Amino acid sequence: MFIVGLSGLTGPKTAVRGNWIAAAGMGIAVLATLISVRDTATVNWILIAAGLAVGVLLGVPPAKKTKMTAMPQLVALFNGVGGGTVALIAWAEFIETDGFARFTAEQHPTVALVVGSLFAAIIGSVSFWGSLVAFLKLQESIPRKVEASLVKSAKLFQVCNVVLLLGAVAAAVCIGLNAGRGSPGWTIALVLVLAGIMGLFVVLPIGGADMPVVISLLNALTGLSAAAAGLALDNSVMIVAGMIVGASGSILTNLMAKAMNRSIPAIVFGSFGGDGGADGGAVTTTEQGAVKATSAADAAIQMAYANQVIVVPGYGLAVAQAQHAVKEMSNLLEARGVEVKYAIHPVAGRMPGHMNVLLAEADVDYDAMREMDDVNGEFNRTDVTIVIGANDVTNPAARSDPSSPIHGMPILNVDQSRSVIVLKRSMSSGYAGIENPLFFLNQTSMLFGDAKKSVSEVIEELKVL
Ligand code: NDP
Repeated sequence: MFIVGLSGLTGPKTAVRGNWIAAAGMGIAVLATLISVRDTATVNWILIAAGLAVGVLLGVPPAKKTKMTAMPQLVALFNGVGGGTVALIAWAEFIETDGFARFTAEQHPTVALVVGSLFAAIIGSVSFWGSLVAFLKLQESIPRKVEASLVKSAKLFQVCNVVLLLGAVAAAVCIGLNAGRGSPGWTIALVLVLAGIMGLFVVLPIGGADMPVVISLLNALTGLSAAAAGLALDNSVMIVAGMIVGASGSILTNLMAKAMNRSIPAIVFGSFGGDGGADGGAVTTTEQGAVKATSAADAAIQMAYANQVIVVPGYGLAVAQAQHAVKEMSNLLEARGVEVKYAIHPVAGRMPGHMNVLLAEADVDYDAMREMDDVNGEFNRTDVTIVIGANDVTNPAARSDPSSPIHGMPILNVDQSRSVIVLKRSMSSGYAGIENPLFFLNQTSMLFGDAKKSVSEVIEELKVL
């Protein structure tokens, strides 16, 4: 059911059903676990029922109430809880076996129990504390100045992390070597604390805008730690579910890194982006010459008499919350017989699926949202492409300039369109902090201003045409 559920998540139309199937699978796993308890006399059912009730109360209301745009924070938090649970399971196993001194017949093979528990303790703890920091960053609870100085101190944090990792692994190895004789309680506490500090220190110096990739990575780690705990407990469901999460999280992390043309170490150890791009960047460059400014009236005329218009949404659309206005503009164009399509770049915005979520909220038809590979061949047949708050994902330097930091990143071929209208507030750069030659092309004109305001002005002009 987890696998069928996961495959449902590959498309917006089947995602809700997929989610329900996976949730039902988890429900069955919980029930089966409770039913299979053999030693019913020693089980504290009241505690278990209370735990289930607390979990439902803490899980359901935020999942229902949280806005779509705040989903990354919620995912970070839920992921952290998973990692924390795994770390607690490892701790419980340590206590139950008196520091791996006693093993029951059920707990064989002991190597899997000891190694699995210690691995789960380290990775689970890293994931819990790292996810909490990711949550705070996405919630913007860490002041910008503090975050900027943390990003600047990245090297110091990295040195500390090497020491912390070595310390946690050394303590775990000591516990492992003492299995059979038993280790004192403080040793496992030391493993958990060192790994926990490492989790904090890994995520603290990473810029807020890189958080979606970090969460995906932490998610993969949580899955792996759950699989390790499954090995320790000899629980096949935990191994299967943990490996599914570990594998899908790793694939997603890799896909995101590829779409951004960056390596995972470059994201974790910091390079471009980070703090600077979180608010759209501050670099203003006009080295390539003058740009042409246009007005809402001209933009409206150009689009009204086009056969096909492609809308390219980006991070600025989310900042301006212009999705409803964009949908209204498309409706007006379609009413005039213009074909309107949306070109979705996999890393447009600041989280996977960011643009899909925003446009779906404004009831844009799923079929009108075209993925990059699907739409790229269409730009040279398109009369007008309107770029709304997108920048890096349209930058032709990624194709043509080997010295560009984003060289090799797949982009939307907006520059091949007959004319391009770019909506943004200034000449500031995007997340990557670099200039975009698209803005200086002959066929490009800039409509400066907040995207929502500009689109609303275009709408007014379309209404009177
Ligand atoms: P960019 O960050 O490249 O550019 C966004 C542009 O929006 C800015 O140039 C800014 O210009 C403009 N903008 C900001 N606010 C407004 C507003 N209110 N109205 C109008 N325009 C506005 O965004 P893209 O979506 O093109 O690219 C995403 C980038 O983020 C890529 O580099 C990607 O690698 C990276 N990234 C993506 C992640 C993901 O999962 N999607 C995760 C992490 C990073 P101005 O200030 O002049 O208005």
